[in-house]
Parts: sequence; C-alpha cells; structure tokens
Amino acid sequence: MAAASQARRLRPDLEIIALERGNWTSYSACGIPYFVGGEVDTLEQLVARTPDTFREKYNIDVRLRHEATEIDLAGQRVLVRDLEAGMDVEFGFDQLMVGTGARPAFPQVPGVNQPWIRGVQTLDDADDLVQFARTISCKNVVVVGGGYIGLEMGEAFVNRGAHVTVIDGGPHVMHSFDADMAALITSAMEKFGIDVRSEVRVTGFDDGRVITSAGEFPADLVVLGTGVIPNSALASAAGIATGVRGAIKVDKRQLTSAEGVFSAGDCAESLHLVSGQMVHVALGTIANKQARVAGINIAGGQATFPGVLGTAVSKICSTEVARTGLTEREAAQCGFDAVATTITSSTRAGYYPGAAPITVKMITARSDHRILGAQIIGQEGAAKRIDIVATAITAKFTVDQLIDTDLSYAPPFSPVWDPVATAARVTLSEL
Ligand SMILES: Cc1cc2nc3c(=O)[nH]c(=O)nc-3n(C[C@H](O)[C@H](O)[C@H](O)COP(=O)(O)OP(=O)(O)OC[C@H]3O[C@@H](n4cnc5c(N)ncnc54)[C@H](O)[C@@H]3O)c2cc1C
Repeated sequence: MAAASQARRLRPDLEIIALERGNWTSYSACGIPYFVGGEVDTLEQLVARTPDTFREKYNIDVRLRHEATEIDLAGQRVLVRDLEAGMDVEFGFDQLMVGTGARPAFPQVPGVNQPWIRGVQTLDDADDLVQFARTISCKNVVVVGGGYIGLEMGEAFVNRGAHVTVIDGGPHVMHSFDADMAALITSAMEKFGIDVRSEVRVTGFDDGRVITSAGEFPADLVVLGTGVIPNSALASAAGIATGVRGAIKVDKRQLTSAEGVFSAGDCAESLHLVSGQMVHVALGTIANKQARVAGINIAGGQATFPGVLGTAVSKICSTEVARTGLTEREAAQCGFDAVATTITSSTRAGYYPGAAPITVKMITARSDHRILGAQIIGQEGAAKRIDIVATAITAKFTVDQLIDTDLSYAPPFSPVWDPVATAARVTLSEL
C-alpha cells in the first residue's frame, strides 16, 4: 500500500489495483504484541489506513480477500482467487509490484499443525490468537524462538497472567546481538518472571506438551517466534529470480529480474551497507522505504534504495534493546579486524530522577576507525540512541568524528557525554 499510495501521489492518472488476501490493509503488525498484551484495546487501532480510505482518498481499487495465485509475465496478467465469491478472476498489468511479505517459519516437527500452536504475522493471526487464548485457561504459554517477535509475545502473555517459557535452539536469545549483550536481555526476562531455555531443541508437540531435547514443557498455548521466510513462491513460480533465503532479487530501483515487476518489503532482498552482502531483513522500516522507492519508479520517477543496516529496537520486559550494523561476531565473519568496546553509563545525568543504567557496545574497524555496528541495552530512553550510530555508520563516520559530533545535553536527557559518545571515546583510547 505504501508503493501504491506513493505512485498515486505522483501520477493521478494511473489505474491502481491492490490485491490483499486478508481482511486488512496498511496495518501495523509491529503493534500485535501490544494488542495481545492488552496495552492496545482493539485491532482497528493498529490500522493506519483502511481500505475505504485508500479507495476514497487515494483512488486505489483495493480488493480484499483476493489472493494472487499466479503471475503470467508474458501475458502481463495476474490470476486471482476471489476468496469471498469462490471464483477465479484475472487482472492485466503494465507494471506490477510484489509485496507479499513473509510467513512464520514453522519447525518441521511432529504435531506442529495443531490449533494450540500459533504463529503471528497478520492482524487476522492476532485476532485468532487472542480469541483462542480467551477460550482456554492459558496458564502455561511456551514461546518457541527467542527473536524479538518471540520475546515481545512472551512479555505480552506475562501481562495476560500466564507463566511463560521461552525455548531457543541457539546459544542465546536475540541472535542479532552478541552473546554478552544478549545475556543482559536474558537477565531482564528472568527478572520479569520468564523462564528462558537456550540451546534447547524442540522435537515435537503432543497433548499439551512441548517435547524438547531438555525434557517436556506443559503448554496450553505455543507461540512460534522461529523467524520468517520470504513469501516469494508466487514470484519464483513466474520465473522471477530469488536470492538469499529465497527472497526476491531486486536492484537499487527495487526492480526484479522481470521487466516492469517491482518488489519491496519482507519478500525482497536488501544490500547490507557495511558487509556489502545481500541479506534478508524483515522490518517494517525497510519495507516502507523500499516501497516508497518502488512507488516512485512505478510512477516514472528515478529513485534508488541504498541498503540497510538492520537497525532495530525493541522493548523486552521493560528493558530497551537496540542494534545496528554488524555485531562483533558478524564483523569477524565478514573478515573485519574489529575492536569491540562495551561501556556502562546512565540514561540521564546521574543525579537526575529516573537516571538508569545503559550499556553500549560499539564495533569499530581497527584500520580506518570506521564504525561498523553498535548494540544498546538499558532502561527508558536508552534504545533510540541507536539512531545516532545508524546515522554515523550511514555517513561512514569514524569514531573520531562521532566524538566530535555536536550532540545535545541537559540533565533530564543524558550525561554531558552521551553514552554513545562515551563508547566512541573509549573505543578511540583502545585503538
Ligand atoms: C508481531 C510482529 C512485530 C513486529 N514488530 C516490528 C517492529 O517493532 N519494527 C519493525 O520495523 N518491524 C516489525 N515487524 C515486521 C514488520 O511488520 C514487517 O517487516 C512488515 O509488515 C513488512 O511489510 P510487508 O508489506 O513487506 O509485508 P506484510 O506486512 O506481511 O504484508 C504482506 C501482505 O501481503 C498479503 N499477501 C501475501 N501473499 C498474497 C497473495 N498471494 N495474494 C494477496 N495477498 C497476499 C498478506 O496477507 C499481507 O497482508 C513485526 C512483525 C510482526 C509479525
């Protein structure tokens, strides 16, 4: 919908049709954990623009409950199942935008396809999940997968009064963080009452039990946070090239390998600005930016999307967590000779009410002092500081330049040296 509305702004004359197999448009999946946890009252609050708004204000012909089943590139048409009417229809196109998103990766183990085992990707999933949770006792909830969606869902079910266990097959939760920083997240979760089990492999689900390599866990409900897989089957069946993790290959204009076919969002690849490698990062921030670029190009403009840093923030059990660029582990994998520095400071001036701890880890290239990545964990006010580092990395700053950057200060907001600048100073000393 972001691509469609961007194209409409530039070209009032285009005929734009949007096909959505579900019941909603332009919704914030990011808000689902807060709906499940009860901080947000209704699903409607998560909808930025309704289908009627798109129809009336943007003149976009939105067709809900219409599932695209085939792309015919040679015939320039999309075959579609009208799920409401139960019939097949087709639409011709001059230009096509594929924004089919991603789907939860379900572990391939016995018993996974049972109603008490759920993934969360769309508002319809969230609606079903909450309705199901109301019909059962929901005493024990097991979250499988310790990424940010799994952990946010875990917190949501603690807020609903459940005992929550998070099971993750890796050495620690939040794989997009280094182990030392992830340990701070685990400790915050445990203080919140969540039972965290790392290096535990789920082998099956049976009769209200999650069967694992470390024994059985009782569960009234299982939420799967085992990552997502790009929904690229529709495009690849049409012969459109796919790349890393099966995501649709796109160039800087978001153009796929097929003429006149664009793609953006969770179904598409991105270039990592530090590693230079193609990656699949499923984030709403990236989806919106890529879609804006696709929309401009569809309208005949010239826009490019440079790439991503995987900048992400989350609030997990009252603790704010954030990351951007490469972790220490990723920097080593990419062949960088990197220095990693971790500092602990305060979110506000130490004497100011509400000052709380913040830990910043900064990863820097030894040779040219260029900042490669950072991770931040702390209390209220900590996480959004990651945007300073994301901006610095995008501008190819060295730590020296970050130290010299004229950042703001007053006691209610930070110490006189912002924790991010302190991390840069300590890094420079080490270098
Ligand atoms: C619980 C949760 C929390 C999240 N939190 C954050 C966050 O805090 N910050 C952040 O940046 N990102 C977050 N994300 C990720 C973010 O929601 C996604 O990156 C973003 O929604 C991707 O947008 P998209 O348009 O590519 O895909 P989607 O939003 O998934 O939209 C794709 C749409 O295509 C439809 N579709 C698929 N196939 C077809 C077909 N064949 N025919 C018709 N329609 C089809 C689907 O029904 C879906 O509505 C979160 C995601 C989840 C699930």
